[in-house]
Amino acid sequence: MDVTRILESLNDAQRQAVTAPAVPMLVIAGAGSGKTRVLVHRAAWLIDVEGLSPQSLLAVTFTNKAAAEMRGRIESLLGMPVNHLWIGTFHGLAHRLLRRHWREAGLPQNFQIIDSDDQLRLIKRLLKNLEIDDGRWVPREIQYFINAQKDEGLRPQHLDDEGDPSRRQMIALYKSYEEVCERGGLVDFAELLLRAHELWRDNAELLHHYRRRFRHLLVDEFQDTNAIQYAWLRLLAGNDGVPFVVGDDDQSIYRWRGARVEHIHQFQKDFPKTSIVKLEQNYRSTATILNAANAVIANNNSRMGKNLWTDGAEGESIKVYAAYNERDESDFVIGRLRDWIDQGNLRADAAVLYRSNAQSRVLEEGLINARIPYRVYGGLRFFERAEIKDALAYLRLISHRDDDSSFERIVNRPTRGIGARTVEIMRAYARANSCPMWRAAGAIASDALNGRAANAVLAFLNLIEKMARDVAGLDLQEQVDHVIYASGLVDFFKKEKGEKGETRVENLLELVSAAKSFEPDPAEEMSKLDEFLSHAALEAGEGQADAWEDCVQLMTMHSAKGLEFPLVFLTGMEDGLFPHQRSIADPSGLEEERRLCYVGITRAKQTLYVTYAEQRRLHGMDNFSQPSRFISEIPAAHIEEIRPRVQVSRPMRAPARSATSALPAAEMGVRLGQRVRHGKFGDGVILNCEGQGAHARVEVNFETAGTKWLVLSYANLDLM
Ligand code: ATP
Ligand code: MG
Repeated sequence: MDVTRILESLNDAQRQAVTAPAVPMLVIAGAGSGKTRVLVHRAAWLIDVEGLSPQSLLAVTFTNKAAAEMRGRIESLLGMPVNHLWIGTFHGLAHRLLRRHWREAGLPQNFQIIDSDDQLRLIKRLLKNLEIDDGRWVPREIQYFINAQKDEGLRPQHLDDEGDPSRRQMIALYKSYEEVCERGGLVDFAELLLRAHELWRDNAELLHHYRRRFRHLLVDEFQDTNAIQYAWLRLLAGNDGVPFVVGDDDQSIYRWRGARVEHIHQFQKDFPKTSIVKLEQNYRSTATILNAANAVIANNNSRMGKNLWTDGAEGESIKVYAAYNERDESDFVIGRLRDWIDQGNLRADAAVLYRSNAQSRVLEEGLINARIPYRVYGGLRFFERAEIKDALAYLRLISHRDDDSSFERIVNRPTRGIGARTVEIMRAYARANSCPMWRAAGAIASDALNGRAANAVLAFLNLIEKMARDVAGLDLQEQVDHVIYASGLVDFFKKEKGEKGETRVENLLELVSAAKSFEPDPAEEMSKLDEFLSHAALEAGEGQADAWEDCVQLMTMHSAKGLEFPLVFLTGMEDGLFPHQRSIADPSGLEEERRLCYVGITRAKQTLYVTYAEQRRLHGMDNFSQPSRFISEIPAAHIEEIRPRVQVSRPMRAPARSATSALPAAEMGVRLGQRVRHGKFGDGVILNCEGQGAHARVEVNFETAGTKWLVLSYANLDLM
């Protein structure tokens, strides 16, 4: 027994939580105060000191990355592997349950998980089949509607149209969507949770079994559980379970996905014997960073309120850089990264964070040019790339002929003479006979199709059957290797011109390496191929090829939750981008954005850069904006402003309204994006210039007074 190892390096409050008796526990504490650490130590304590078998613990974290890390940390505390410990995300655990109890869950044994991309495509196809106008019934909105209902635990039959015809239509679409999924054995992300909940709810014996097995439930990031996740936990805990949950109301950032911070209060009602522990000492960040974060979050009204302090060093001030545009911003970030790396630091210790995925592209280009290895979490992930999805679709179809999604994806990829018309005939047949496409294809090939088309379809069916025979009994990586060649995908992409085709082939080969290094979860019982396919769908980002390489970390602020890095950049800190335009007018939306900002700031251990661009081209549009209001919420004493090193001459990318391209009043130093101050209107940014000499006019976007055209020679603008 190694009690001291488990208890050393815990403060009193942490120790109290870790060693608590078996009662429900709520640890509520700010960022970096050791919540995750407490959870890890609690698991070790239960196993080592209380003598529980690892099998009797269930631990839930937010990402697979976090789960792997947690397992590693528990093992190193205990000095032994904990193979039978169930540890994963809500989705991952729900998936495991459904695989084990597919029959009770009403699923086919080899059901397939579809990601949100597949889901959207399926909805589009559904609309087409039903001949519903996708201009009026927007696929994304339908998708959102369906997932939101599932997140609340609601099936179509639970929903009332409230006399509203468009709601009635949505419900009908939800129902049709369910039928398609049912037929194809397809399970989307929200369905995983909902089914897993229903599985227990409707199977008393099964529930009883799991309640006996998992008395101790450990949950990280509890503030971001949604209704169905909470209901699932609640059900499992019953009256005798011992849930141990840790969270931070200030870091609740998934409300838009159905998360409810109110579960923190609900928990105390549902488990009246709950002990509450608060942790207030932060061990992660310098005092400067922590104080900045505290000051920002203090602007939120709806908070439980807590005091975070550190006895660590004051640290460097937070550096704020005002970039001219997004390229300048990216150059700046890359320059600092270079310095960081040149000083002998690990690349992986640096993280560049942004509000939305699309912002990564410019940064990525810069990093590629600078030859700095990087890795993007989220965004276009390895497993989401088209060629990878093609290969996975072959693998899926091999193990599950009824998977219509995969069937449609590859039936003519690479092209093999099966045209849209043939596919349409198959669909009609499948619809009419309520059968999978696979069966429809077989039927029409021998019946409805002319010779050429029929031969093409038969060749495809034979190809899949042959591949299935050929890979039987092979190792996972051999299966993948066989499939990428036998399917013709490698040859197909080799013929694609230029670098793109080459990259695609490389990616396919990388998939073989991914299969090779794929380590099945020791607690898992399904076939390795099935587990690999599920893994690909579930956690698209994590199998990225260059995982082992030391590289700079790029991710959205959302995906940075729970992580920490010595060096952090918060980029794109502009009003409209962050806080996001959608949420500015809505007070609760704005508070959620502020919590996200709090998450961002508190990822940094030593050094924090905050950057914004006065002009940004995003989604093909030029925007001029003010620095994020969150920057002004950081006390000035903690900030050091960094000015551009040299005033380079900027290309004029004037908006279409600009009448002339000549630089007006260039001698006055006026340029697009220039910040100015006006006696009456206050501070603003120049958006546009027109005319020359005495006629020169500028359009200025004032922070409070809005956008105005001013004649330069009268306006008396102060340049800032
Ligand atoms: P977040 O809210 O961001 O998820 P958290 O509360 O989960 O943060 P941890 O990640 O557990 O915080 O801990 C933050 C950092 O502080 C980690 O590096 C951890 O090892 C360290 N730490 C936590 N408690 C202690 C302690 N008592 N002594 C030394 N270091 C500690
Ligand atoms: Mg944590």
